[in-house]
This record gives sequence, C-alpha cells and structure tokens, in this order.
Amino acid sequence: MKLKQPLMIGLFAFSTLWVQAAPKDYASFSSYPTPKGDLTEMTYSPQRTEFKLWAPTASEVQLRIYDSGTGGEAVQAKRMKRASDGTWRVTLGGDLEGKFYTFQVKIGKQWRAETPGINAKAVGINGGRAAIVDLASTNPAGWENDRAPKQNDVVIYEMHHRDFSISLSSGVKNRGKFLALTEKGTKTAYGIPTGLDHLKELGVTHVHILPSYDYASVDESAIDRPHYNWGYDPLNYNVPEGSYSTNPADPKARIREFKEMVKALHDNGLKVVLDVVYNHTFDIENSNFERTVPGYFYRQRPDGTYADASACGNETASEREVMRRYMVESVEYWMKEYHIDGFRFDLMGIHDIETMRQIRAAAERINPDVLIYGEGWAAQAPQLADGEAAMKAEVHRIPGVAAFSDEMRDGLRGPFSDDTKTAFLGGLPGHEESIKFGIAGAIQHPQVDYAKVNYTDAPWAAQPQQMISYVSCHDDMCLHDRLRASIPGVKDEEVRRLALLAQTAVLTSQGTPFIFAGEEVNRTKKMVHNSYKSPDSINEINWLNKVAFADDYEYFRSLIRLRKDHPAFRLRDAELVRRHLEFLPSPAGTVAYRLKDNAGGDRWKDIVVVLNGQTTAQTLALPAHSYRLHLSSRKDVNLETNNGFFQGTLSVPAQTALILYAE
Ligand code: CA
Repeated sequence: MKLKQPLMIGLFAFSTLWVQAAPKDYASFSSYPTPKGDLTEMTYSPQRTEFKLWAPTASEVQLRIYDSGTGGEAVQAKRMKRASDGTWRVTLGGDLEGKFYTFQVKIGKQWRAETPGINAKAVGINGGRAAIVDLASTNPAGWENDRAPKQNDVVIYEMHHRDFSISLSSGVKNRGKFLALTEKGTKTAYGIPTGLDHLKELGVTHVHILPSYDYASVDESAIDRPHYNWGYDPLNYNVPEGSYSTNPADPKARIREFKEMVKALHDNGLKVVLDVVYNHTFDIENSNFERTVPGYFYRQRPDGTYADASACGNETASEREVMRRYMVESVEYWMKEYHIDGFRFDLMGIHDIETMRQIRAAAERINPDVLIYGEGWAAQAPQLADGEAAMKAEVHRIPGVAAFSDEMRDGLRGPFSDDTKTAFLGGLPGHEESIKFGIAGAIQHPQVDYAKVNYTDAPWAAQPQQMISYVSCHDDMCLHDRLRASIPGVKDEEVRRLALLAQTAVLTSQGTPFIFAGEEVNRTKKMVHNSYKSPDSINEINWLNKVAFADDYEYFRSLIRLRKDHPAFRLRDAELVRRHLEFLPSPAGTVAYRLKDNAGGDRWKDIVVVLNGQTTAQTLALPAHSYRLHLSSRKDVNLETNNGFFQGTLSVPAQTALILYAE
C-alpha cells in the first residue's frame, strides 16, 4: 500500500502522533495499534470540531459534512490523516453545530460504505449520519441537579415503551414515547392512575426499559405508521432510538426527551435501568463496526467464518482491547450523560468475564449503587475458552453482577423450551428444590438438594442479590398466557390465583426481584410467545384491567410493600441467609420456609411463607410460635385459626400463598 500525501487541515497538529508509515497487515487483532485516549470520534466547540476515527487497517479515510441527516450531497469532504495509534484525524474550523457527518474507510483499494462511526453521540433520521450537537444544549431544566433517589431495596419493572403507554386506555398524551414517562396525572377512563403515577403507586424501584439506544428495525421516517420491535438489533449504541422521540429528524429531540424521561423518573423516586445489547449488531456487512475495522469487532470460528453465539447472525468480541474499551466507555457515557442507574446485559454469556468485571469497576466509580445484571447464557456456545464467558455458572466470580435464574422460573411455570409443559404451578411435584434454590438466591444453602434443581447442580451466586428472581419477562409468553397454555382445562380464577402464588415466590426471594410490566394487571399477549415484532394489539397493556382485577393488583402492591418494609426478605448476605432462612418440612408440591430470629434486624421475630401449588388444601406443622396472618393470596377462602392465631398445624388452601408472622 502506498503512502497517502497527508493533508494539513484545521487548527491542531498532532505532531507526535503522525507517522509516515503506510498501513501494514497485522499478524493478529491483538497486534493492531490501539487508540491513545478514549474512543470519542467528534469533539465540538463553537470554534472548531475535531474528528477522530480508529481504523488501523484503513489505507485512507474520508470525512464528509452534510447539511441534513439524510439525502443531499456532502457540502464538504476532507481526507483524514493517519496517526500512529491507529486513528485518523482532522479538525475543521468554525461552528459546525447542526451539521451531519460520515466517515468513509478504504481498505486496500476498496472503499467501504459511509458510516457515522462506531461512537456517534447524536444521529439524523434512521441513524445513517452522525450529527454535530452541543450536548450541553440538550439538557432539560434542572438537569445539573438531577440525582437518583435513595432506595432501600430493588424491585425491577421491565417495560417496553410502546407496551406501557400505547393503549388508548393509558390516557397518556405521548403514547409510546420517552415522554410518556414524564406525564403526571394520567388516568384510565375510570379515573384510575396509569403511567408514571401507576409506577409510583405500585412501589417498584427500578424501571428497566427495553433497548432504547438507536436500533435498526423501525423506519424512523414513517413512525406514524404502525410499527413495533423490541429493539434487539443495535445500530448506534450511544444514541437514543429515534422512534421513541417526538421528532426523529431532529437529533436533539431524542436526546433531550430521553433526559426528560430519566429526570421525571428520578424526581418520582424511580431509578432507570437500560437494556444493552453489545453482544451482536443488526447485521455484519452494514454495521458501523465492519465498515470501520473489518473483522475486528466480531469473533470468528477457527475456519475464519463469523461466529454466531447470539443466533442473530454474529457475536462481538469483548475480549479484544478496543471492543472491551468500547463497552466500558459506553456504560460510562450512559451513566454520565444520561444519568442511567443500571444495565441489563443481553446474552451476557457472550461477553468475557474480564470485560464484565471492568464494566462493574468503571460503573462503580461513577455510582457505587449501580445495578448490573444480565442473561447468563448465550444462544449458542461463544468462541471463548472454557471458563472465560460470563455465564450464569461463573457469576460467583463476577462480584456485583447478577444473572437471571431460570431454575426457579421454570420450576414454577415449566420449561422455556415447551409452552405446553407445566411444573409447580400446575400441581406437579418434583420442582420444590428449584423453587427453594430461587428463594435462597442461588447461593449455597444446606437445605437445598442441588441434584434436584433445574439446569444446574450447584449454587452459582456468591451473594443472594446476584440472582434475578422472576417468573416472566418480555421473552416467551407472559405468565397468564403460559398458565393457560400449560395447564389443560385451567379455569380463569385458577390462572389468577396461580399468578399471585408465583409472584409471591418471586417477591419473597432473597434474590433481586424482577417483574414484567403488566403482570400486575393480568396482562395477556393473546398467547403469542415471541412477540418481538407483533403489533400493538398483542403487546399493549390494557389498563382497564386495573379495575377488572383490582384485588390481584392490590395483592401485588402488598407484596412489594412487604419486601420494602421488611429487611428479612433482602438480607443481601449469603451467611445471613444461611443463618436465618430455614425451609420447613411440607408436603410434595408445596414449599414452606421461615425467616427466623428477627432476620436482618426485622421487627418480626419469625416469618413463615407457604406456597401451595396443589389443587387441594395441604397441611404442615408450624414452628412453636403463635402466628398472625399478614397476607393471603386468596380472598375467597376462610382460614382456620385459633382466635386469630395460627398454631401447631396449618391448613393451606389449594393454589395459595400465605405469609404469617410472629412478633
Ligand atoms: Ca433507529
């Protein structure tokens, strides 16, 4: 490759960085020079804008400036200049705010297609061009004083923007938008709170939003037409998605409205968790990664073909230095620029352990309370050495990072692989140990028989909060649909009571509880399993349910309040769980346990929780205390008491959860 005549452009000369050598073929990805400083690609000031792109294998790089985010010809084109750290740089004088830009990389003699770079912080419509934006001008009023609320617990609420507010029943003005979560006083036609007020009333602490970075599958130029996607198809990782803004063509609108959303949630006592999908991109060929440094950001199989642990066509290579730095910087950026309080890593098992540790450490430096969890699995085995992938079984080696537990989830409702199969909730015995595993928070507990637990034969969490406790999420059927699909002839009232029974296990677990938006109002997705691009009619939450199922909703609220009021349910220390959590002998198809001796400083001396998945009443022996009833998941049955006290033998009605306490 021949040397390109360098063009001197702009005000700055990076004299120490300039090299006169032509690009060479590197022996391996690890021998690529890596960028000095961070991976920022555009630094704006009213006097000048600096551009920098890491493209060590390029033979030439062009910068183009446009007047608009899409269409039209470039108003300026500049050849960028190679530096010794693998970056290409150019500085343009003058105030370029409001302009758009792309990079174009030449590999050998071949020009790749234009890209906004891998690290655009603002983009035009559909994310094809990056935008030059003064980010300070996107801050809502009071942003500098925005602080996350203090919480004594974590109850995660997983939502998709459209699911949550697109139904007319929500009474929300900005339906399906970031701004929906800023509206106060929204109500159903019956005057029942929805939206932000609903979240406050429910009592959850963390709103986990499905992918909200710029993703590929929704055409932002036609958002008035019906469209829906979960968003697991990343395009620009560090920019909010345009279709959730009121004007995708205005690069500032999505940024400002996202910040307004975060601020409104913070102002109302809620924290915000972002679902991040660094493990794959929408495609390879047209991805910003591949257009910039071909091959580098993706793993290959030994035969040189691209690996696909995501089953979405590719898997990224977190173990390579620049990809790892990219992920760390991206997390830092969302925390600093958007005040994000936590992250849910999609298919975390594709990432390597060291990267997850570095992400935790970097995030903790910004906010020690940051919440980090992920799916401790991959769709297929990733191209990593044994023991290097951040799989569920390795979570004990990644302090401060949690993983979803499929043990209790499937012990309750049945296996993910078959919607027609049931488990504990369908009255099948044999799943008790999987539920006990989940109640204990996936830690070592002397009373759990790990040989009988689903999918795993050993505890995998070092601390109980490293287990995400849940029974449903956006994947698969929602709980009510699953119960209908898996239990032949199940009656509607049984579905309701079994859902409450399941959520009692989730919310009284020592793990970190997680609920799927709408389950509290008996959500249905009309039996659709993989609803990632189903229409709103399938995915929307019907808020009129909140009236129709008011008792169920109140029980849900009571469970959350119980957890927040009682430290016994959130000991956050494996040793304390082993000391205070004792499983009680109970019949097959039931699980019973107590939290004893004022666990965690609780004002209740002893708490007994009983879960009966059987279709008949079951009896068990209570410890030697006089208990009172705190909660019953069934209002339609009378309980046998001795003048209001439960002593000796307890009879638990069919398909019921009971929570008793002794002072
Ligand atoms: Ca988009």
